[in-house]
Amino acid sequence: MNSAIIAVGTELLFGQTVNTNASYLSMKLNQMGFNVMYHYVVGDNPDRLRDTLERAFALCELVILTGGLGPTQDDLTKELVSEYMGAELEIDERVMAELREFFDARGRVMTENNIKQAYLPKGCIPLYNRTGTAPGFVLTRDGKTAICFPGPPHEMKWLFENGARQYLESLSSKSMYYKVVRTIGIGESDLETALLPLIDEQTDPTIATYAKEGECTLRVASQRDTPEEAKEAVEEMLSKIDEIVGRYIYSYDDEELNEVVVKLLADKGLKVASCESATAGMFSSYLADVPGASSVLGGSLVTYSDESKTALAGVDKSVIEDKGVVSPEVALQMAEGARRVCESDIGISVTAYAGPDIPEGYAPGEGYVGYSYGEISGTIHLRGMRNDRFRNRNFYKMTMLRIVYELASKGEVTFR
Ligand code: ATP
Repeated sequence: MNSAIIAVGTELLFGQTVNTNASYLSMKLNQMGFNVMYHYVVGDNPDRLRDTLERAFALCELVILTGGLGPTQDDLTKELVSEYMGAELEIDERVMAELREFFDARGRVMTENNIKQAYLPKGCIPLYNRTGTAPGFVLTRDGKTAICFPGPPHEMKWLFENGARQYLESLSSKSMYYKVVRTIGIGESDLETALLPLIDEQTDPTIATYAKEGECTLRVASQRDTPEEAKEAVEEMLSKIDEIVGRYIYSYDDEELNEVVVKLLADKGLKVASCESATAGMFSSYLADVPGASSVLGGSLVTYSDESKTALAGVDKSVIEDKGVVSPEVALQMAEGARRVCESDIGISVTAYAGPDIPEGYAPGEGYVGYSYGEISGTIHLRGMRNDRFRNRNFYKMTMLRIVYELASKGEVTFR
Protein backbone atom coordinates (compact mmCIF):
# COMPACT_ATOMS: atom_id res chain seq x y z
CA MET A 1 0.00 0.00 0.00
CA ASN A 2 1.32 3.45 -0.93
CA SER A 3 1.63 5.89 1.90
CA ALA A 4 2.71 9.46 2.61
CA ILE A 5 3.69 11.31 5.75
CA ILE A 6 2.64 14.90 6.39
CA ALA A 7 4.44 16.68 9.21
CA VAL A 8 2.53 19.78 10.25
CA GLY A 9 4.21 22.70 12.02
CA THR A 10 5.67 26.04 11.02
CA GLU A 11 8.63 25.39 13.34
CA LEU A 12 9.67 22.56 11.00
CA LEU A 13 9.78 24.96 8.04
CA PHE A 14 11.83 27.43 10.05
CA GLY A 15 14.34 24.68 10.76
CA GLN A 16 13.88 25.07 14.52
CA THR A 17 12.66 21.49 14.86
CA VAL A 18 14.16 18.59 12.94
CA ASN A 19 11.52 16.36 11.38
CA THR A 20 12.45 13.23 13.31
CA ASN A 21 8.82 12.07 13.32
CA ALA A 22 8.95 11.49 9.57
CA SER A 23 12.12 9.40 9.75
CA TYR A 24 10.74 7.32 12.64
CA LEU A 25 7.42 6.70 10.89
CA SER A 26 9.10 5.96 7.56
CA MET A 27 11.30 3.34 9.15
CA LYS A 28 8.39 1.69 10.92
CA LEU A 29 6.10 1.77 7.88
CA ASN A 30 8.78 0.30 5.62
CA GLN A 31 9.43 -2.48 8.08
CA MET A 32 5.73 -3.26 8.02
CA GLY A 33 5.68 -3.47 4.23
CA PHE A 34 4.16 -0.09 3.32
CA ASN A 35 5.70 1.87 0.47
CA VAL A 36 6.42 5.34 1.77
CA MET A 37 6.24 7.44 -1.37
CA TYR A 38 6.28 11.02 -0.10
CA HIS A 39 7.23 13.16 2.89
CA TYR A 40 5.52 16.53 3.11
CA VAL A 41 6.18 19.32 5.58
CA VAL A 42 3.59 22.06 5.85
CA GLY A 43 3.15 25.03 8.18
CA ASP A 44 0.16 25.70 10.43
CA ASN A 45 -1.85 27.13 7.56
CA PRO A 46 -5.31 25.81 6.65
CA ASP A 47 -5.17 26.38 2.89
CA ARG A 48 -1.78 24.80 2.49
CA LEU A 49 -2.68 21.85 4.69
CA ARG A 50 -5.88 21.30 2.66
CA ASP A 51 -3.83 21.43 -0.51
CA THR A 52 -1.26 18.97 0.89
CA LEU A 53 -3.99 16.54 1.93
CA GLU A 54 -5.42 16.67 -1.63
CA ARG A 55 -2.02 15.99 -3.15
CA ALA A 56 -1.11 13.19 -0.76
CA PHE A 57 -4.44 11.40 -1.10
CA ALA A 58 -4.36 11.77 -4.89
CA LEU A 59 -1.27 9.53 -4.84
CA CYS A 60 -1.56 7.36 -1.72
CA GLU A 61 -4.25 5.44 0.09
CA LEU A 62 -2.64 5.88 3.50
CA VAL A 63 -1.63 9.29 4.84
CA ILE A 64 -0.04 9.73 8.24
CA LEU A 65 0.00 13.16 9.84
CA THR A 66 1.91 14.40 12.86
CA GLY A 67 1.50 17.67 14.74
CA GLY A 68 -1.22 20.24 15.05
CA LEU A 69 -3.51 18.24 17.35
CA GLY A 70 -3.07 20.41 20.40
CA PRO A 71 -5.47 22.89 22.07
CA THR A 72 -4.35 26.14 20.47
CA GLN A 73 -5.82 28.13 17.59
CA ASP A 74 -3.10 27.18 15.16
CA ASP A 75 -3.63 23.44 15.78
CA LEU A 76 -5.75 22.60 12.74
CA THR A 77 -4.89 19.07 11.67
CA LYS A 78 -7.90 17.32 13.19
CA GLU A 79 -10.37 19.89 11.83
CA LEU A 80 -8.96 19.77 8.30
CA VAL A 81 -8.59 16.00 8.11
CA SER A 82 -12.20 15.63 9.32
CA GLU A 83 -13.36 18.20 6.78
CA TYR A 84 -11.45 16.42 3.98
CA MET A 85 -12.92 13.06 4.94
CA GLY A 86 -16.41 14.51 5.41
CA ALA A 87 -16.64 13.59 9.08
CA GLU A 88 -18.15 15.77 11.78
CA LEU A 89 -16.38 16.36 15.06
CA GLU A 90 -18.05 15.18 18.24
CA ILE A 91 -17.07 15.02 21.90
CA ASP A 92 -15.38 11.80 22.94
CA GLU A 93 -16.51 11.24 26.52
CA ARG A 94 -13.44 9.24 27.48
CA VAL A 95 -11.06 11.99 26.35
CA MET A 96 -13.24 14.55 28.11
CA ALA A 97 -13.15 12.59 31.37
CA GLU A 98 -9.39 12.07 31.09
CA LEU A 99 -8.82 15.77 30.47
CA ARG A 100 -10.91 16.68 33.54
CA GLU A 101 -8.93 14.21 35.61
CA PHE A 102 -5.65 15.60 34.28
CA PHE A 103 -6.54 19.17 35.25
CA ASP A 104 -8.13 18.24 38.58
CA ALA A 105 -5.07 16.24 39.61
CA ARG A 106 -2.94 19.34 39.04
CA GLY A 107 -5.41 21.74 40.64
CA ARG A 108 -5.72 23.66 37.36
CA VAL A 109 -8.80 25.00 35.65
CA MET A 110 -9.54 23.47 32.26
CA THR A 111 -9.80 26.31 29.76
CA GLU A 112 -12.20 26.35 26.81
CA ASN A 113 -9.46 25.66 24.30
CA ASN A 114 -8.52 22.47 26.12
CA ILE A 115 -12.01 21.11 25.52
CA LYS A 116 -11.14 21.30 21.81
CA GLN A 117 -8.91 18.30 22.37
CA ALA A 118 -11.88 16.14 23.43
CA TYR A 119 -13.44 16.40 19.96
CA LEU A 120 -12.78 13.57 17.56
CA PRO A 121 -14.15 12.86 14.09
CA LYS A 122 -17.29 10.75 14.07
CA GLY A 123 -16.57 7.12 13.19
CA CYS A 124 -12.82 7.29 13.86
CA ILE A 125 -10.75 4.82 15.85
CA PRO A 126 -9.44 6.94 18.74
CA LEU A 127 -5.81 6.59 19.79
CA TYR A 128 -6.01 7.45 23.48
CA ASN A 129 -2.90 9.21 24.68
CA ARG A 130 -1.35 8.20 28.01
CA THR A 131 1.69 10.41 27.54
CA GLY A 132 -0.02 13.75 26.81
CA THR A 133 -3.42 15.33 26.47
CA ALA A 134 -4.06 15.31 22.71
CA PRO A 135 -5.47 12.03 21.37
CA GLY A 136 -4.61 10.69 17.94
CA PHE A 137 -7.04 8.86 15.65
CA VAL A 138 -7.48 6.69 12.58
CA LEU A 139 -10.13 7.82 10.09
CA THR A 140 -11.14 5.84 7.03
CA ARG A 141 -13.42 6.88 4.13
CA ASP A 142 -13.78 5.46 0.62
CA GLY A 143 -10.60 3.42 0.73
CA LYS A 144 -8.54 6.29 2.14
CA THR A 145 -7.04 6.16 5.60
CA ALA A 146 -5.67 9.07 7.62
CA ILE A 147 -3.82 8.50 10.86
CA CYS A 148 -3.15 11.56 12.99
CA PHE A 149 -0.55 11.74 15.77
CA PRO A 150 0.39 14.61 18.09
CA GLY A 151 3.69 16.32 17.26
CA PRO A 152 5.84 15.64 20.35
CA PRO A 153 7.99 12.65 19.32
CA HIS A 154 7.55 10.68 22.56
CA GLU A 155 3.75 10.97 22.28
CA MET A 156 3.76 10.03 18.60
CA LYS A 157 5.95 6.97 19.27
CA TRP A 158 3.83 5.84 22.19
CA LEU A 159 0.63 6.10 20.17
CA PHE A 160 2.23 4.37 17.23
CA GLU A 161 3.24 1.39 19.36
CA ASN A 162 0.11 1.36 21.51
CA GLY A 163 -2.69 1.64 19.00
CA ALA A 164 -1.70 2.50 15.46
CA ARG A 165 0.66 -0.43 14.94
CA GLN A 166 -2.06 -2.97 15.45
CA TYR A 167 -4.32 -1.19 13.00
CA LEU A 168 -1.57 -0.87 10.39
CA GLU A 169 -0.70 -4.56 10.68
CA SER A 170 -4.26 -5.37 9.73
CA LEU A 171 -3.86 -3.23 6.55
CA SER A 172 -0.52 -4.47 5.32
CA SER A 173 -0.42 -7.54 3.12
CA LYS A 174 3.38 -7.58 2.75
CA SER A 175 6.24 -8.00 5.18
CA MET A 176 9.48 -6.13 4.99
CA TYR A 177 12.79 -7.40 6.34
CA TYR A 178 16.09 -5.59 6.05
CA LYS A 179 19.64 -5.65 7.28
CA VAL A 180 22.12 -2.83 7.45
CA VAL A 181 25.68 -3.93 6.75
CA ARG A 182 28.60 -1.67 7.71
CA THR A 183 31.88 -1.61 5.82
CA ILE A 184 35.20 0.17 6.13
CA GLY A 185 38.08 0.47 3.73
CA ILE A 186 36.07 0.74 0.54
CA GLY A 187 34.54 3.89 -0.93
CA GLU A 188 30.91 4.11 -1.96
CA SER A 189 31.56 4.07 -5.71
CA ASP A 190 33.92 1.07 -5.46
CA LEU A 191 31.42 -0.73 -3.29
CA GLU A 192 28.63 -0.09 -5.76
CA THR A 193 30.80 -1.12 -8.71
CA ALA A 194 31.77 -4.37 -6.98
CA LEU A 195 28.12 -5.16 -6.28
CA LEU A 196 26.72 -3.92 -9.60
CA PRO A 197 26.00 -7.40 -10.98
CA LEU A 198 23.88 -8.12 -7.90
CA ILE A 199 22.25 -4.70 -7.89
CA ASP A 200 21.39 -4.91 -11.60
CA GLU A 201 19.87 -8.36 -11.61
CA GLN A 202 17.63 -7.86 -8.59
CA THR A 203 14.43 -6.00 -7.90
CA ASP A 204 13.92 -7.76 -4.58
CA PRO A 205 15.90 -7.77 -2.35
CA THR A 206 17.00 -4.24 -3.07
CA ILE A 207 20.56 -3.16 -2.28
CA ALA A 208 21.31 0.46 -1.45
CA THR A 209 24.69 1.96 -0.58
CA TYR A 210 25.18 5.02 1.63
CA ALA A 211 28.41 6.85 2.40
CA LYS A 212 28.87 7.85 6.02
CA GLU A 213 31.71 9.70 7.67
CA GLY A 214 34.73 7.45 7.11
CA GLU A 215 32.74 4.37 6.10
CA CYS A 216 30.04 2.94 3.85
CA THR A 217 26.77 1.30 4.70
CA LEU A 218 24.68 -1.18 2.71
CA ARG A 219 20.98 -1.73 3.18
CA VAL A 220 19.58 -4.99 1.89
CA ALA A 221 15.78 -5.11 1.98
CA SER A 222 13.10 -7.51 0.87
CA GLN A 223 9.32 -7.27 0.79
CA ARG A 224 7.52 -10.60 0.59
CA ASP A 225 4.26 -12.22 1.58
CA THR A 226 5.57 -13.50 4.91
CA PRO A 227 8.31 -12.29 7.29
CA GLU A 228 10.07 -15.66 6.88
CA GLU A 229 10.26 -15.35 3.09
CA ALA A 230 11.56 -11.77 3.33
CA LYS A 231 14.23 -12.81 5.87
CA GLU A 232 15.33 -15.76 3.78
CA ALA A 233 15.66 -13.58 0.65
CA VAL A 234 17.80 -11.05 2.53
CA GLU A 235 20.02 -13.73 4.03
CA GLU A 236 20.59 -15.34 0.65
CA MET A 237 21.59 -11.97 -0.79
CA LEU A 238 23.89 -11.27 2.17
CA SER A 239 25.84 -14.44 1.50
CA LYS A 240 26.37 -13.36 -2.14
CA ILE A 241 27.49 -9.91 -0.94
CA ASP A 242 29.81 -11.54 1.55
CA GLU A 243 31.56 -13.48 -1.23
CA ILE A 244 32.34 -10.26 -3.08
CA VAL A 245 33.10 -7.66 -0.40
CA GLY A 246 33.16 -9.70 2.83
CA ARG A 247 36.64 -8.52 3.72
CA TYR A 248 35.40 -4.95 4.13
CA ILE A 249 32.38 -5.85 6.28
CA TYR A 250 32.68 -5.28 10.00
CA SER A 251 29.03 -5.60 11.01
CA TYR A 252 25.92 -7.28 9.62
CA ASP A 253 23.75 -5.70 12.30
CA ASP A 254 24.25 -1.97 11.86
CA GLU A 255 26.65 -1.77 14.80
CA GLU A 256 29.03 1.13 15.25
CA LEU A 257 32.71 0.42 14.75
CA ASN A 258 33.50 1.28 18.39
CA GLU A 259 31.06 -1.39 19.60
CA VAL A 260 32.55 -3.97 17.26
CA VAL A 261 36.12 -3.09 18.28
CA VAL A 262 35.37 -3.27 22.02
CA LYS A 263 33.69 -6.66 21.55
CA LEU A 264 36.56 -7.93 19.41
CA LEU A 265 39.27 -6.81 21.84
CA ALA A 266 37.34 -8.28 24.77
CA ASP A 267 36.93 -11.62 22.96
CA LYS A 268 40.66 -11.73 22.22
CA GLY A 269 41.65 -10.51 25.68
CA LEU A 270 43.54 -7.54 24.23
CA LYS A 271 44.05 -4.03 25.56
CA VAL A 272 44.61 -0.94 23.46
CA ALA A 273 46.22 2.37 24.43
CA SER A 274 46.30 5.57 22.43
CA CYS A 275 48.62 8.53 22.16
CA GLU A 276 46.64 11.31 20.59
CA SER A 277 47.73 14.67 19.34
CA ALA A 278 45.26 16.05 16.77
CA THR A 279 42.33 14.05 18.14
CA ALA A 280 43.09 15.01 21.76
CA GLY A 281 41.42 11.90 23.17
CA MET A 282 38.59 11.43 20.65
CA PHE A 283 39.66 7.87 19.93
CA SER A 284 39.66 6.77 23.57
CA SER A 285 36.50 8.71 24.30
CA TYR A 286 34.72 6.98 21.40
CA LEU A 287 35.80 3.58 22.73
CA ALA A 288 34.70 4.57 26.23
CA ASP A 289 31.20 5.28 24.87
CA VAL A 290 30.76 1.50 24.74
CA PRO A 291 29.81 -0.27 27.98
CA GLY A 292 32.59 -2.66 28.93
CA ALA A 293 35.35 -0.47 27.47
CA SER A 294 37.20 -0.60 30.79
CA SER A 295 38.32 -4.16 30.08
CA VAL A 296 39.96 -3.22 26.76
CA LEU A 297 41.08 0.40 27.08
CA GLY A 298 44.50 0.46 28.74
CA GLY A 299 44.74 4.25 28.73
CA SER A 300 45.18 7.32 26.64
CA LEU A 301 47.90 9.93 26.47
CA VAL A 302 46.75 13.27 25.15
CA THR A 303 49.98 14.80 23.91
CA TYR A 304 49.05 17.96 22.11
CA SER A 305 52.35 19.80 22.57
CA ASP A 306 55.81 18.64 21.50
CA GLU A 307 56.90 18.68 25.14
CA SER A 308 54.10 16.38 26.25
CA LYS A 309 54.95 13.91 23.48
CA THR A 310 58.39 13.62 25.03
CA ALA A 311 57.34 13.82 28.68
CA LEU A 312 54.38 11.41 28.52
CA ALA A 313 55.07 9.09 25.59
CA GLY A 314 58.87 9.22 25.64
CA VAL A 315 59.17 10.50 22.08
CA ASP A 316 62.78 11.40 21.32
CA LYS A 317 63.13 15.20 21.31
CA SER A 318 65.75 15.07 18.58
CA VAL A 319 63.43 13.05 16.33
CA ILE A 320 60.80 15.77 16.67
CA GLU A 321 63.41 18.40 15.79
CA ASP A 322 64.90 16.45 12.87
CA LYS A 323 61.81 14.92 11.29
CA GLY A 324 59.09 17.33 12.37
CA VAL A 325 56.32 16.66 14.84
CA VAL A 326 54.02 15.46 12.05
CA SER A 327 56.17 12.62 10.75
CA PRO A 328 56.02 8.82 10.59
CA GLU A 329 58.93 8.57 13.03
CA VAL A 330 57.11 10.58 15.70
CA ALA A 331 53.80 8.73 15.10
CA LEU A 332 55.55 5.40 15.59
CA GLN A 333 57.28 6.48 18.80
CA MET A 334 53.95 7.80 20.10
CA ALA A 335 52.26 4.44 19.47
CA GLU A 336 55.10 2.54 21.09
CA GLY A 337 55.11 4.97 24.01
CA ALA A 338 51.37 4.54 24.64
CA ARG A 339 51.68 0.77 24.50
CA ARG A 340 54.58 0.78 26.95
CA VAL A 341 53.33 3.40 29.42
CA CYS A 342 49.78 1.97 29.54
CA GLU A 343 50.99 -1.64 29.54
CA SER A 344 48.75 -2.55 26.64
CA ASP A 345 48.88 -5.02 23.76
CA ILE A 346 48.18 -2.50 21.03
CA GLY A 347 49.46 1.07 20.81
CA ILE A 348 47.82 3.48 18.37
CA SER A 349 48.66 7.13 17.73
CA VAL A 350 47.97 10.15 15.58
CA THR A 351 49.92 13.28 14.82
CA ALA A 352 48.50 15.55 12.15
CA TYR A 353 47.62 19.04 10.94
CA ALA A 354 43.85 19.14 11.14
CA GLY A 355 43.64 22.66 9.69
CA PRO A 356 42.50 25.09 8.64
CA ASP A 357 45.98 26.64 8.95
CA ILE A 358 48.57 24.24 7.62
CA PRO A 359 52.35 24.84 7.73
CA GLU A 360 54.05 25.13 4.38
CA GLY A 361 55.00 21.86 2.80
CA TYR A 362 52.02 19.94 4.21
CA ALA A 363 48.69 19.16 2.59
CA PRO A 364 45.42 20.02 4.39
CA GLY A 365 44.74 17.42 7.02
CA GLU A 366 48.05 15.66 6.42
CA GLY A 367 49.22 13.42 9.20
CA TYR A 368 50.26 9.99 10.38
CA VAL A 369 48.71 7.23 12.38
CA GLY A 370 51.21 4.93 14.10
CA TYR A 371 50.57 1.43 15.40
CA SER A 372 52.40 -1.15 17.41
CA TYR A 373 51.23 -4.67 18.25
CA GLY A 374 53.50 -7.62 19.07
CA GLU A 375 56.18 -7.61 16.39
CA ILE A 376 54.05 -5.58 14.01
CA SER A 377 54.49 -1.85 13.79
CA GLY A 378 54.12 0.82 11.16
CA THR A 379 52.54 4.07 10.13
CA ILE A 380 49.81 5.18 7.77
CA HIS A 381 50.18 8.39 5.84
CA LEU A 382 46.93 10.36 5.82
CA ARG A 383 46.58 12.65 2.85
CA GLY A 384 44.25 14.53 0.62
CA MET A 385 41.61 15.38 3.21
CA ARG A 386 39.68 18.60 2.86
CA ASN A 387 40.64 21.58 4.92
CA ASP A 388 37.86 20.84 7.36
CA ARG A 389 39.02 20.49 10.93
CA PHE A 390 35.94 18.67 12.20
CA ARG A 391 35.94 16.11 9.39
CA ASN A 392 39.68 15.60 9.52
CA ARG A 393 39.69 14.87 13.23
CA ASN A 394 36.84 12.45 12.78
CA PHE A 395 38.66 10.79 9.91
CA TYR A 396 41.77 10.29 12.09
CA LYS A 397 39.66 8.76 14.84
CA MET A 398 37.99 6.37 12.40
CA THR A 399 41.33 5.44 10.84
CA MET A 400 42.81 4.64 14.25
CA LEU A 401 39.80 2.53 15.07
CA ARG A 402 39.97 0.76 11.76
CA ILE A 403 43.64 -0.10 12.23
CA VAL A 404 42.96 -1.47 15.70
CA TYR A 405 40.12 -3.51 14.19
CA GLU A 406 42.45 -4.94 11.51
CA LEU A 407 45.23 -5.70 14.00
CA ALA A 408 42.87 -7.46 16.39
CA SER A 409 40.87 -9.34 13.76
CA LYS A 410 43.50 -10.21 11.15
CA GLY A 411 46.81 -9.55 12.87
CA GLU A 412 47.87 -7.28 10.00
CA VAL A 413 47.16 -3.86 8.53
CA THR A 414 45.87 -3.85 4.98
CA PHE A 415 44.86 -0.18 5.00
CA ARG A 416 46.97 1.96 2.67
P1 ATP B 1 0.64 19.40 21.63
O1 ATP B 1 0.10 20.76 21.28
O2 ATP B 1 -0.28 18.57 22.44
O3 ATP B 1 2.02 19.44 22.20
P2 ATP B 1 0.58 19.00 18.77
O4 ATP B 1 0.08 17.84 18.02
O5 ATP B 1 -0.17 20.29 18.61
O6 ATP B 1 0.72 18.56 20.26
P3 ATP B 1 2.74 20.51 17.77
O7 ATP B 1 2.30 21.70 18.57
O8 ATP B 1 2.58 20.54 16.32
O9 ATP B 1 2.05 19.22 18.33
O10 ATP B 1 4.24 20.15 18.14
C1 ATP B 1 4.64 20.05 19.49
C2 ATP B 1 6.14 19.87 19.56
O11 ATP B 1 6.45 18.57 19.03
C3 ATP B 1 6.94 20.82 18.66
O12 ATP B 1 7.29 22.00 19.29
C4 ATP B 1 8.16 20.01 18.34
O13 ATP B 1 9.11 20.15 19.36
C5 ATP B 1 7.65 18.59 18.31
N1 ATP B 1 7.40 18.18 16.93
C6 ATP B 1 6.34 18.48 16.17
N2 ATP B 1 6.40 17.93 14.96
C7 ATP B 1 7.56 17.23 14.94
C8 ATP B 1 8.22 16.44 13.95
N3 ATP B 1 7.68 16.23 12.75
N4 ATP B 1 9.41 15.88 14.27
C9 ATP B 1 9.95 16.10 15.49
N5 ATP B 1 9.38 16.84 16.46
C10 ATP B 1 8.21 17.41 16.20
